[in-house]
Amino acid sequence: MKRDILCVECGERSKSMFPEGVDQNGEGIKHVLGRMRLGQPPGPLLILNMATGERREEIKPTCVCDNCNVAVMIGDRCYARSMWIEGRVPYYEWEEEYIEPDSTVPPLPS
Ligand SMILES: [Zn+2]
Repeated sequence: MKRDILCVECGERSKSMFPEGVDQNGEGIKHVLGRMRLGQPPGPLLILNMATGERREEIKPTCVCDNCNVAVMIGDRCYARSMWIEGRVPYYEWEEEYIEPDSTVPPLPS
């Protein structure tokens, strides 16, 4: 199964291009909208080099959109998209590891 985190814009575009569910070829797609829950909090991180004692601040994005590379920070709205092939690379629930869904993850559309 292919798992993507998409920014809202890319997720909406993907939803409009690919109908939810499994097609006659057994290829499935599912989009779940929610809020990113993984990664670094927004704001700079203090990076300490243990060898030299050098300190610097760095902004690290939580994650980037798998389509357009825009930063998806913790708390940002985003889509978790799954693409799979029935019987070969089956779907399994993974979304809640990465995002807090707006509602409970819907069952597989059929
Ligand atoms: Zn995007």
